[in-house]
Amino acid sequence: MADRINLLDLGPADAEARLREFMAASREAPYRARQVARRLWRSPAPSLAALTDLPLALRGALEAEFTLPRLTVAARQRSVDGTEKFLFRLADGEAIETVAIPDGGRLTLCISSQAGCALQCAFCATGAMGFGRNLAPWEIAGQVREVMLLDPPIMPTNIVFMGMGEPLMNWRAVDVALTTLNDPAGIGIGARHITVSTVGVLPGIQALAARPEQFRLAISVHAPSDALRQRLMPINTKYPLAAVIDAARTFVRRVTFEYVLLGGVNDRGGDATALAALARQCGAFVNLIPLHPGGTGGFTPSTPSATAAFARSLRARGVEVALRKSRGMDISAACGQLRVERLGRRAPGRPEEHADIHVA
Ligand code: SF4
Repeated sequence: MADRINLLDLGPADAEARLREFMAASREAPYRARQVARRLWRSPAPSLAALTDLPLALRGALEAEFTLPRLTVAARQRSVDGTEKFLFRLADGEAIETVAIPDGGRLTLCISSQAGCALQCAFCATGAMGFGRNLAPWEIAGQVREVMLLDPPIMPTNIVFMGMGEPLMNWRAVDVALTTLNDPAGIGIGARHITVSTVGVLPGIQALAARPEQFRLAISVHAPSDALRQRLMPINTKYPLAAVIDAARTFVRRVTFEYVLLGGVNDRGGDATALAALARQCGAFVNLIPLHPGGTGGFTPSTPSATAAFARSLRARGVEVALRKSRGMDISAACGQLRVERLGRRAPGRPEEHADIHVA
């Protein structure tokens, strides 16, 4: 049983091809392959045994050959504003977070691409816990599959890679997961409704740009100068601002800047002016993100007046801005918080980055 094929770790087309081979070898009707493939993602089945529209013998044969592994819900929190956070336990004991954010007719699912993160952004609970491992393709897309399997199901309209981890440091798996999420034979979410958020990993941006689909790119900027950004985001040493902005400029689709406002750190008048110049260089839309109040790590949220002035200053310089409202304030909604709580470790900061998402 050890070498059974995990159908969820293949792209939908590859999975169906494997199923076709299997049906042919088993002298089953070819249409059975499509019948099973539809239950992998589009209309997901909890297990192969649950495919009760197949003959019992065929279900048994499928189970001997293939697996449909699951993620285990270790915790679930629901905010009064409808935001829901899930902690999924993986087979090796790692844990990852997924957040469902309803907003009018839209339901955005914020998914993780790594267990933990190596990048140690100064304001991030996930960064503080360190790197566990890369997620496999099925564990990334599987977060969507799991919420679709809930009763009642959660059916996301939008996906953002803004959960735990840096997706472009796990490109091989993210590449397959993007196909599964977008392919009509997979989950079938439009590419324009899927956003990959990065600190600016250049090879990954190039790989994403090379894909023909219209996937969106968000860049975590968080500081308008190398000196400050280096302090907040150590990765800036490897991928400095100028190089990241250059990459954003060559990205054919419009890019979003993510900017978490840290009181007295990156929210002064000069910061807004410098950020506006960067945004204008690559035509970026700017998402201003409030820091979760009560945060530690030496950071405090910007005051309402500083926030409003910052947004005004960007707009006055011709930059389109969205000011995110806080979501999930009564739950551990910021990235890494729930896992830190459940594992008994303290979160050093509470950025709303991964809890309060808007895509331009
Ligand atoms: S903000 Fe994102 S990239 Fe930075 S440490 Fe946290 S998870 Fe990693």
